[in-house]
Amino acid sequence: MNEHLTLSQLKRYSFRKIERLQNLRLRAVCKHILPATPFYRSLFEAYGVAFNSIRTIEDWHMQGLPLIKKSAYLKRPQDFVVQPDKAHVFSSHLSYLLSLEEYRSALDLILLPNKRELLKQYYQPKMLIFSGGTETGNPTPALLTPQQKFNTLGGVLGIIGELLLSRFGTAQTTGMNVFPYAPHLGWHAVHQALDMHADLNLNTAAGGAMPTERLVKLAGKTKPNIICGMNEYLRNRFLPLAIKENIKLPETVLFINGAQKMIDAERRQIEELSKKLGVTNPIVLDFYGASELKTALMPECQSGSGFHHIAPLSSIVDTVTAKPSGKDIIDNWDFAVNGYGVTWNIDGAGTMLSGYFLGDVFERVENSQCPHCKLNVKRIFEVSRIRDVQAQIGLTGAVEAKLKGAKINLAAYREEALSVKEVKEVQVVLRGKTLELRFVADNPSRAKKELETLFKSAEIKPKLVPTTYEKLKGDKLKYEPIKP
Ligand SMILES: [Zn+2]
Repeated sequence: MNEHLTLSQLKRYSFRKIERLQNLRLRAVCKHILPATPFYRSLFEAYGVAFNSIRTIEDWHMQGLPLIKKSAYLKRPQDFVVQPDKAHVFSSHLSYLLSLEEYRSALDLILLPNKRELLKQYYQPKMLIFSGGTETGNPTPALLTPQQKFNTLGGVLGIIGELLLSRFGTAQTTGMNVFPYAPHLGWHAVHQALDMHADLNLNTAAGGAMPTERLVKLAGKTKPNIICGMNEYLRNRFLPLAIKENIKLPETVLFINGAQKMIDAERRQIEELSKKLGVTNPIVLDFYGASELKTALMPECQSGSGFHHIAPLSSIVDTVTAKPSGKDIIDNWDFAVNGYGVTWNIDGAGTMLSGYFLGDVFERVENSQCPHCKLNVKRIFEVSRIRDVQAQIGLTGAVEAKLKGAKINLAAYREEALSVKEVKEVQVVLRGKTLELRFVADNPSRAKKELETLFKSAEIKPKLVPTTYEKLKGDKLKYEPIKP
C-alpha cells in the first residue's frame, strides 16, 4: 500500500490531486480507524456525529466536532492508540483498504497465507517516540507501528535525502548526530537518515551519551560534513569547543537544526562560528517536526524556504483561529489562512490524533510550488510556540497601560540582542514591570556597551544583566529563551 508520495510525485501532482488523496485517507480513517480508537469512539458518541459523515476536515468543523488539546492527550495517551477488535480485524482491515481504493493490497491480504503477520505489522505499535520535552520538560509520546517506522518514515527520509544531499555531488559524506540520545524523534530520525544516506554514519549522540569533548575530537579526526543537532547545543557547546580545540572541518558542511526553533540570528551564529573551523560554505537548514505529526517531518530545502510538508499522506495539517478554553477540548474554532497548527493523522494505526491542536503558531502558510525545489507541497514559515505568544500577550495585557501603551515583542528583543556579534546567548525575562535581558558573552562589558547602543532608542529599555550559560540553565531548570 502506498503510504507516502515519492519526490517525483510531489513534483508532478497538483495541490488538488494531493488534497484528493488526503481526503480519501481521512474518510477511510474516520470510517474504519477512529471507531477502533477509544478516545474518538467516545467523542463521536458524545457529539452525536456519525463516523461516515466526515469526508473532509471542513466536515469536522461543520459537524461541530472540537479540537483536542495536548492536556486531553497527555491524560490518557493509551486511549489514542488504534486498538482493532482482534476477532474482526481481518474484515475491518479489508474494508479499510477497499475504501482507500487499495485493491492490490486488498487482494494481497486475501491471498496471503500469513495474514496475522501482515496485520501485526500494520497495527501492533513498535516504537515509542517523544518530542517537546527538550524545552518544556514535558515530552509528548507517540507510538509508531512497524509499517510506519520502516516503510513510511523510511520513505519520507528518502525524500529528505534526495532533497538535501544532492548539493554534495559525488563528494564523500560523513554524518554526525549530536541530538541528545533518548527516545527522541530528532535523534532517531537523524540516525535513520544518516544510515540511509551518508557514506559514513559516525553513530554518535549528545546529551550526556557522549561528552562534547569526545564528539569534538572525533569531528577533528573524521571531518563530518553533515552535522545534525539542536542549534542551542551547536552554538553554545559544540562549535565553541571545536574552535578552542583548533579542529578543522571540511569546506562545505550542512548543519541541520531540529527540535527547537532557530531564529535568523542563531542561524547566522552557526555560520560565523563554523567559518572559524575552516568551513567556507556553511549550509544551515532548519526542520520542523513533532511526535504528534509522527512521520510527517518537515525540512527546509534552502535557508528560509519554509518547512515543506513532504508527507501529505501521513497527516493533514491546517491552521485555525481558536478561543481559549479552560477545558481539554476547544469547541470554539474556525479555519484561518494562518494561526494555530492543527493535525489530522491519516496514516492508519499506532497513535491516532485527529483534530489535534499542536500548540504551535504558523505565522505564514504557502500553498504554492516551492520556487527552489519545485515541490507542490504546503510550506510553513515561522513556527512559534504558543508559550512565547502568551508571554507577549501577558506583557501587552498587563503592563501596557503603565508603559504608555507601548506594545513590545519579547521574541524580537531576544532576536535583536543576538544579532550583536559579541553576544552568544540571550534570555528575556519579565520581572514585574522590568524587562530583564540576560546575556552571555566572552567580554561582557564590551557586549553590554554594544547592547546599550542597540537599545538606545527602544521605547522600553531592557535591564542588561551579564550572566553565564550555566546560570541560564538554572539549578536543575532547563534553559528557556523567554520567561513571562
Ligand atoms: Zn523547496
